[in-house]
Amino acid sequence: MLPEIENLLKLQDADKEIRRLQDEVAELPKRVAAIELKLAGTKAQLEKAQASLKADEAARRKYDANITELRTKISKYRDQSLDVKTNEQYKALLHEIQFAEKEIASNEDKILELMVNADTRDKEVKAAQAELKAETAEIEKEKEQARQRTAEDEKQLTEWRAKRDQLRSGVEESLLRHYERVSKFRGSGISEVRNQKCMACQVMLRPQIYNDVRSGKETVVCDSCQRILYFNPADELVDQKPGVHRPKRHHPKIDAPQAWYYRPEFAEDGEVFLCLTNAHGQASRRVYDVHTGRLLGDILSREGDFRQAFPEDITGSTRLNGSWSEEELDGFGGELPMVILDSLRADLDLARHEAASGSHVKPAVAAPTEHAAS
Ligand SMILES: [Zn+2]
Repeated sequence: MLPEIENLLKLQDADKEIRRLQDEVAELPKRVAAIELKLAGTKAQLEKAQASLKADEAARRKYDANITELRTKISKYRDQSLDVKTNEQYKALLHEIQFAEKEIASNEDKILELMVNADTRDKEVKAAQAELKAETAEIEKEKEQARQRTAEDEKQLTEWRAKRDQLRSGVEESLLRHYERVSKFRGSGISEVRNQKCMACQVMLRPQIYNDVRSGKETVVCDSCQRILYFNPADELVDQKPGVHRPKRHHPKIDAPQAWYYRPEFAEDGEVFLCLTNAHGQASRRVYDVHTGRLLGDILSREGDFRQAFPEDITGSTRLNGSWSEEELDGFGGELPMVILDSLRADLDLARHEAASGSHVKPAVAAPTEHAAS
Protein backbone atom coordinates (compact mmCIF):
# COMPACT_ATOMS: atom_id res chain seq x y z
CA MET A 1 0.00 0.00 0.00
CA LEU A 2 1.22 3.49 -0.82
CA PRO A 3 2.45 5.44 2.24
CA GLU A 4 0.17 8.29 1.08
CA ILE A 5 -2.82 5.95 1.36
CA GLU A 6 -1.72 4.76 4.80
CA ASN A 7 -1.51 8.38 5.92
CA LEU A 8 -4.91 9.14 4.44
CA LEU A 9 -6.45 6.19 6.30
CA LYS A 10 -4.98 7.47 9.56
CA LEU A 11 -6.15 10.96 8.66
CA GLN A 12 -9.65 9.61 8.04
CA ASP A 13 -9.63 7.96 11.49
CA ALA A 14 -8.56 11.26 13.03
CA ASP A 15 -11.26 13.15 11.12
CA LYS A 16 -13.91 10.67 12.29
CA GLU A 17 -12.81 10.95 15.91
CA ILE A 18 -12.79 14.74 15.73
CA ARG A 19 -16.31 14.73 14.28
CA ARG A 20 -17.52 12.35 16.98
CA LEU A 21 -16.05 14.51 19.75
CA GLN A 22 -17.49 17.69 18.24
CA ASP A 23 -20.92 16.09 18.04
CA GLU A 24 -20.67 14.97 21.66
CA VAL A 25 -19.63 18.43 22.84
CA ALA A 26 -22.58 19.93 20.94
CA GLU A 27 -24.97 17.34 22.37
CA LEU A 28 -24.21 17.91 26.08
CA PRO A 29 -25.86 21.34 26.52
CA LYS A 30 -28.98 19.96 24.84
CA ARG A 31 -29.11 17.17 27.41
CA VAL A 32 -28.74 19.64 30.27
CA ALA A 33 -31.51 21.79 28.75
CA ALA A 34 -33.81 18.75 28.61
CA ILE A 35 -33.20 18.01 32.32
CA GLU A 36 -33.80 21.64 33.20
CA LEU A 37 -37.09 21.58 31.34
CA LYS A 38 -38.20 18.64 33.47
CA LEU A 39 -37.11 20.52 36.57
CA ALA A 40 -39.22 23.51 35.52
CA GLY A 41 -42.22 21.16 35.27
CA THR A 42 -41.71 19.92 38.83
CA LYS A 43 -41.33 23.52 40.04
CA ALA A 44 -44.63 24.49 38.41
CA GLN A 45 -46.32 21.52 40.09
CA LEU A 46 -45.06 22.61 43.49
CA GLU A 47 -46.23 26.16 42.90
CA LYS A 48 -49.67 24.92 41.95
CA ALA A 49 -49.93 22.79 45.11
CA GLN A 50 -48.78 25.72 47.24
CA ALA A 51 -51.27 28.06 45.56
CA SER A 52 -54.11 25.60 46.26
CA LEU A 53 -53.08 25.40 49.90
CA LYS A 54 -53.08 29.20 50.14
CA ALA A 55 -56.47 29.47 48.46
CA ASP A 56 -57.90 26.94 50.97
CA GLU A 57 -56.50 28.92 53.88
CA ALA A 58 -58.02 32.12 52.50
CA ALA A 59 -61.38 30.39 52.06
CA ARG A 60 -61.29 29.14 55.64
CA ARG A 61 -60.58 32.62 56.93
CA LYS A 62 -63.56 33.87 54.94
CA TYR A 63 -65.87 31.18 56.40
CA ASP A 64 -64.62 31.96 59.92
CA ALA A 65 -65.36 35.64 59.34
CA ASN A 66 -68.83 34.75 58.03
CA ILE A 67 -69.58 32.73 61.15
CA THR A 68 -68.44 35.54 63.45
CA GLU A 69 -70.59 37.98 61.53
CA LEU A 70 -73.63 35.68 61.68
CA ARG A 71 -73.22 35.18 65.45
CA THR A 72 -73.11 38.93 65.95
CA LYS A 73 -76.32 39.21 63.94
CA ILE A 74 -78.03 36.50 66.04
CA SER A 75 -77.13 38.17 69.31
CA LYS A 76 -78.47 41.47 67.90
CA TYR A 77 -81.74 39.76 66.92
CA ARG A 78 -82.04 38.27 70.42
CA ASP A 79 -81.60 41.71 71.96
CA GLN A 80 -84.25 43.14 69.64
CA SER A 81 -86.67 40.30 70.47
CA LEU A 82 -86.85 41.56 74.06
CA ASP A 83 -88.32 44.84 72.84
CA VAL A 84 -90.88 43.58 70.27
CA LYS A 85 -94.52 44.58 70.62
CA THR A 86 -96.32 42.15 68.35
CA ASN A 87 -96.30 38.46 67.82
CA GLU A 88 -95.55 38.98 64.07
CA GLN A 89 -92.44 41.01 64.87
CA TYR A 90 -91.26 38.30 67.23
CA LYS A 91 -91.85 35.58 64.61
CA ALA A 92 -89.98 37.60 61.99
CA LEU A 93 -86.93 37.92 64.29
CA LEU A 94 -87.07 34.24 65.14
CA HIS A 95 -87.08 33.47 61.45
CA GLU A 96 -83.96 35.67 60.92
CA ILE A 97 -82.22 33.88 63.79
CA GLN A 98 -83.02 30.46 62.35
CA PHE A 99 -81.81 31.53 58.93
CA ALA A 100 -78.50 32.79 60.39
CA GLU A 101 -78.04 29.56 62.32
CA LYS A 102 -78.50 27.58 59.11
CA GLU A 103 -75.90 29.78 57.45
CA ILE A 104 -73.48 29.14 60.33
CA ALA A 105 -73.97 25.37 59.94
CA SER A 106 -73.32 25.61 56.20
CA ASN A 107 -70.08 27.58 56.76
CA GLU A 108 -69.00 25.09 59.39
CA ASP A 109 -69.56 22.26 56.90
CA LYS A 110 -67.36 24.01 54.36
CA ILE A 111 -64.63 24.51 56.98
CA LEU A 112 -64.78 20.81 57.84
CA GLU A 113 -64.46 19.94 54.16
CA LEU A 114 -61.39 22.18 53.88
CA MET A 115 -59.86 20.54 56.95
CA VAL A 116 -60.27 17.11 55.37
CA ASN A 117 -58.74 18.40 52.11
CA ALA A 118 -55.94 20.18 53.91
CA ASP A 119 -54.34 16.86 54.71
CA THR A 120 -54.16 15.90 51.02
CA ARG A 121 -52.96 19.37 50.01
CA ASP A 122 -50.22 19.21 52.58
CA LYS A 123 -49.07 15.85 51.30
CA GLU A 124 -49.06 17.16 47.72
CA VAL A 125 -46.89 20.12 48.63
CA LYS A 126 -44.47 17.98 50.63
CA ALA A 127 -44.17 15.43 47.80
CA ALA A 128 -43.54 18.17 45.22
CA GLN A 129 -40.92 19.72 47.50
CA ALA A 130 -39.15 16.39 47.93
CA GLU A 131 -39.22 15.72 44.19
CA LEU A 132 -37.83 19.15 43.42
CA LYS A 133 -35.04 18.64 45.91
CA ALA A 134 -34.10 15.26 44.41
CA GLU A 135 -34.26 16.59 40.87
CA THR A 136 -32.18 19.62 41.72
CA ALA A 137 -29.49 17.39 43.21
CA GLU A 138 -29.66 15.15 40.12
CA ILE A 139 -29.38 18.03 37.69
CA GLU A 140 -26.43 19.45 39.55
CA LYS A 141 -24.74 16.06 39.32
CA GLU A 142 -25.51 15.77 35.61
CA LYS A 143 -24.37 19.31 34.94
CA GLU A 144 -21.12 18.57 36.68
CA GLN A 145 -20.66 15.39 34.65
CA ALA A 146 -21.43 17.32 31.47
CA ARG A 147 -18.87 19.95 32.42
CA GLN A 148 -16.25 17.28 33.07
CA ARG A 149 -17.07 15.40 29.87
CA THR A 150 -16.90 18.58 27.84
CA ALA A 151 -13.54 19.47 29.34
CA GLU A 152 -12.26 15.94 28.61
CA ASP A 153 -13.64 16.09 25.04
CA GLU A 154 -12.05 19.47 24.45
CA LYS A 155 -8.74 18.11 25.65
CA GLN A 156 -9.00 15.12 23.32
CA LEU A 157 -10.07 17.38 20.48
CA THR A 158 -6.93 19.45 20.90
CA GLU A 159 -4.81 16.29 20.80
CA TRP A 160 -6.63 14.88 17.78
CA ARG A 161 -6.40 18.18 15.93
CA ALA A 162 -2.65 18.23 16.48
CA LYS A 163 -2.47 14.61 15.28
CA ARG A 164 -4.56 15.48 12.24
CA ASP A 165 -2.35 18.43 11.34
CA GLN A 166 0.67 16.18 11.56
CA LEU A 167 -0.96 13.53 9.35
CA ARG A 168 -1.97 16.20 6.86
CA SER A 169 1.62 17.23 6.44
CA GLY A 170 2.39 13.63 5.43
CA VAL A 171 0.08 13.76 2.41
CA GLU A 172 0.92 15.40 -0.86
CA GLU A 173 -0.92 18.72 -1.18
CA SER A 174 -3.13 18.16 -4.22
CA LEU A 175 -4.13 14.70 -2.95
CA LEU A 176 -4.94 16.20 0.45
CA ARG A 177 -7.07 18.90 -1.18
CA HIS A 178 -8.93 16.25 -3.16
CA TYR A 179 -9.46 14.15 -0.02
CA GLU A 180 -10.80 17.10 1.97
CA ARG A 181 -13.07 18.29 -0.82
CA VAL A 182 -14.66 14.84 -1.23
CA SER A 183 -14.83 14.33 2.58
CA LYS A 184 -16.72 17.59 2.94
CA PHE A 185 -19.41 16.55 0.48
CA ARG A 186 -19.57 12.81 1.07
CA GLY A 187 -18.53 12.39 4.70
CA SER A 188 -15.48 10.31 3.73
CA GLY A 189 -12.71 10.83 1.22
CA ILE A 190 -11.22 7.38 0.85
CA SER A 191 -12.75 4.03 -0.02
CA GLU A 192 -11.67 0.42 -0.05
CA VAL A 193 -11.94 -1.67 -3.20
CA ARG A 194 -13.17 -5.24 -2.91
CA ASN A 195 -14.13 -7.65 -5.68
CA GLN A 196 -13.57 -4.87 -8.21
CA LYS A 197 -16.13 -2.65 -6.45
CA CYS A 198 -15.81 0.70 -4.69
CA MET A 199 -17.14 -0.22 -1.24
CA ALA A 200 -18.39 3.33 -0.55
CA CYS A 201 -20.58 3.82 -3.65
CA GLN A 202 -20.84 0.14 -4.69
CA VAL A 203 -20.03 0.90 -8.32
CA MET A 204 -17.94 -1.62 -10.31
CA LEU A 205 -14.56 -0.28 -11.39
CA ARG A 206 -13.29 -0.41 -14.93
CA PRO A 207 -10.63 -3.16 -15.30
CA GLN A 208 -7.85 -0.63 -15.90
CA ILE A 209 -8.75 1.34 -12.76
CA TYR A 210 -9.02 -1.88 -10.77
CA ASN A 211 -5.56 -2.96 -11.93
CA ASP A 212 -4.10 0.41 -11.01
CA VAL A 213 -5.61 0.26 -7.51
CA ARG A 214 -4.41 -3.28 -6.93
CA SER A 215 -0.91 -2.60 -8.12
CA GLY A 216 -0.69 0.18 -5.48
CA LYS A 217 1.80 2.15 -7.54
CA GLU A 218 -0.20 5.35 -7.86
CA THR A 219 -3.27 6.95 -6.34
CA VAL A 220 -6.52 6.39 -8.21
CA VAL A 221 -9.95 7.91 -7.60
CA CYS A 222 -13.36 6.31 -8.08
CA ASP A 223 -14.97 7.50 -11.34
CA SER A 224 -18.34 7.50 -9.69
CA CYS A 225 -17.89 9.00 -6.19
CA GLN A 226 -14.42 10.59 -6.55
CA ARG A 227 -13.15 8.95 -3.37
CA ILE A 228 -9.50 7.94 -3.32
CA LEU A 229 -9.34 4.17 -3.74
CA TYR A 230 -7.17 1.63 -1.98
CA PHE A 231 -6.89 -2.13 -1.98
CA ASN A 232 -6.23 -4.36 1.01
CA PRO A 233 -5.34 -7.94 -0.06
CA ALA A 234 -6.09 -9.21 3.47
CA ASP A 235 -9.73 -8.09 3.22
CA GLU A 236 -10.15 -9.66 -0.20
CA LEU A 237 -8.92 -12.99 1.24
CA VAL A 238 -11.50 -12.80 4.01
CA ASP A 239 -14.20 -12.43 1.37
CA GLN A 240 -13.02 -15.53 -0.43
CA LYS A 241 -12.87 -17.81 2.59
CA PRO A 242 -13.92 -21.30 1.54
CA GLY A 243 -17.23 -22.75 2.61
CA VAL A 244 -18.99 -19.42 2.86
CA HIS A 245 -20.42 -19.36 -0.61
CA ARG A 246 -18.97 -21.38 -3.42
CA PRO A 247 -20.73 -20.95 -6.74
CA LYS A 248 -21.34 -24.04 -8.85
CA ARG A 249 -18.58 -24.32 -11.36
CA HIS A 250 -19.28 -23.80 -15.00
CA HIS A 251 -17.58 -26.43 -17.17
CA PRO A 252 -15.54 -25.43 -20.18
CA LYS A 253 -16.58 -26.67 -23.61
CA ILE A 254 -14.49 -29.53 -24.95
CA ASP A 255 -14.43 -28.36 -28.55
CA ALA A 256 -13.80 -24.67 -27.80
CA PRO A 257 -11.24 -23.00 -30.09
CA GLN A 258 -9.41 -21.76 -27.01
CA ALA A 259 -8.54 -23.57 -23.82
CA TRP A 260 -6.84 -22.48 -20.61
CA TYR A 261 -4.94 -24.91 -18.42
CA TYR A 262 -3.19 -24.83 -15.12
CA ARG A 263 0.08 -26.74 -14.74
CA PRO A 264 1.70 -27.10 -11.30
CA GLU A 265 5.14 -27.49 -12.96
CA PHE A 266 6.26 -26.12 -16.28
CA ALA A 267 9.94 -26.56 -17.11
CA GLU A 268 11.78 -24.22 -14.74
CA ASP A 269 8.92 -21.78 -14.38
CA GLY A 270 6.86 -23.54 -11.70
CA GLU A 271 3.11 -22.93 -11.72
CA VAL A 272 1.76 -21.58 -15.00
CA PHE A 273 -1.42 -20.88 -16.89
CA LEU A 274 -1.36 -22.10 -20.49
CA CYS A 275 -3.52 -20.54 -23.17
CA LEU A 276 -3.95 -22.75 -26.25
CA THR A 277 -5.75 -21.28 -29.24
CA ASN A 278 -6.75 -22.48 -32.70
CA ALA A 279 -6.74 -19.82 -35.42
CA HIS A 280 -6.45 -20.09 -39.19
CA GLY A 281 -5.27 -23.73 -39.14
CA GLN A 282 -2.55 -22.87 -36.62
CA ALA A 283 -2.34 -23.68 -32.92
CA SER A 284 -0.66 -21.17 -30.61
CA ARG A 285 0.48 -21.46 -27.01
CA ARG A 286 1.00 -18.71 -24.48
CA VAL A 287 2.50 -19.40 -21.04
CA TYR A 288 1.78 -17.07 -18.09
CA ASP A 289 3.17 -17.03 -14.58
CA VAL A 290 0.34 -17.91 -12.13
CA HIS A 291 1.47 -15.38 -9.52
CA THR A 292 2.41 -12.35 -11.59
CA GLY A 293 0.44 -12.94 -14.80
CA ARG A 294 3.61 -12.26 -16.82
CA LEU A 295 3.95 -13.84 -20.25
CA LEU A 296 6.81 -16.33 -20.11
CA GLY A 297 8.91 -16.89 -23.22
CA ASP A 298 7.65 -16.49 -26.78
CA ILE A 299 4.25 -17.34 -28.24
CA LEU A 300 4.71 -20.76 -29.79
CA SER A 301 2.86 -21.69 -33.01
CA ARG A 302 2.43 -25.15 -34.52
CA GLU A 303 0.51 -26.60 -37.44
CA GLY A 304 -3.02 -27.99 -36.85
CA ASP A 305 -5.34 -28.23 -33.84
CA PHE A 306 -3.85 -27.39 -30.40
CA ARG A 307 -4.95 -30.78 -29.03
CA GLN A 308 -2.72 -32.52 -31.52
CA ALA A 309 -0.06 -29.83 -31.55
CA PHE A 310 0.53 -29.61 -27.77
CA PRO A 311 -0.53 -32.98 -26.26
CA GLU A 312 2.30 -32.95 -23.73
CA ASP A 313 1.01 -29.63 -22.29
CA ILE A 314 -2.55 -30.87 -21.92
CA THR A 315 -1.72 -34.14 -20.16
CA GLY A 316 -1.60 -33.65 -16.39
CA SER A 317 -3.08 -30.14 -16.61
CA THR A 318 -6.27 -28.78 -15.11
CA ARG A 319 -8.66 -27.32 -17.65
CA LEU A 320 -10.00 -23.88 -16.70
CA ASN A 321 -12.75 -21.57 -17.87
CA GLY A 322 -11.73 -18.58 -19.95
CA SER A 323 -11.93 -17.30 -23.49
CA TRP A 324 -10.51 -14.11 -24.91
CA SER A 325 -10.06 -13.11 -28.54
CA GLU A 326 -6.66 -13.07 -30.21
CA GLU A 327 -6.88 -9.25 -30.29
CA GLU A 328 -7.59 -9.13 -26.55
CA LEU A 329 -4.69 -11.46 -25.81
CA ASP A 330 -2.40 -9.28 -27.92
CA GLY A 331 -3.80 -6.25 -26.09
CA PHE A 332 -2.76 -7.72 -22.73
CA GLY A 333 0.83 -7.61 -23.94
CA GLY A 334 3.40 -9.10 -21.61
CA GLU A 335 1.11 -9.26 -18.57
CA LEU A 336 -2.40 -10.56 -17.87
CA PRO A 337 -4.68 -7.95 -16.29
CA MET A 338 -5.49 -8.56 -12.63
CA VAL A 339 -9.17 -9.25 -13.35
CA ILE A 340 -8.28 -12.05 -15.72
CA LEU A 341 -5.63 -13.42 -13.41
CA ASP A 342 -8.17 -13.32 -10.59
CA SER A 343 -10.86 -15.09 -12.61
CA LEU A 344 -8.40 -17.87 -13.61
CA ARG A 345 -7.27 -18.27 -10.01
CA ALA A 346 -10.87 -18.34 -8.76
CA ASP A 347 -11.78 -20.99 -11.32
CA LEU A 348 -8.72 -23.04 -10.36
CA ASP A 349 -9.82 -22.77 -6.74
CA LEU A 350 -13.29 -24.06 -7.66
CA ALA A 351 -11.84 -26.87 -9.79
CA ARG A 352 -9.63 -27.99 -6.90
CA HIS A 353 -12.52 -27.85 -4.48
CA GLU A 354 -14.65 -29.87 -6.87
CA ALA A 355 -11.91 -32.46 -7.26
CA ALA A 356 -11.42 -32.66 -3.49
CA SER A 357 -15.13 -33.09 -2.80
CA GLY A 358 -15.33 -35.74 -5.54
CA SER A 359 -18.18 -34.08 -7.35
CA HIS A 360 -18.10 -33.93 -11.09
CA VAL A 361 -14.46 -34.94 -11.36
CA LYS A 362 -13.24 -34.53 -14.88
CA PRO A 363 -9.56 -35.35 -14.88
CA ALA A 364 -7.61 -33.72 -17.64
CA VAL A 365 -4.76 -36.09 -16.86
CA ALA A 366 -5.54 -38.65 -19.48
CA ALA A 367 -7.80 -36.20 -21.29
CA PRO A 368 -9.55 -38.99 -23.18
CA THR A 369 -12.72 -37.00 -23.82
CA GLU A 370 -10.73 -34.14 -25.30
CA HIS A 371 -8.91 -36.34 -27.74
CA ALA A 372 -12.12 -38.13 -28.53
CA ALA A 373 -13.85 -34.88 -29.32
CA SER A 374 -11.18 -33.59 -31.64
ZN1 LIG B 1 -16.97 5.08 -5.43
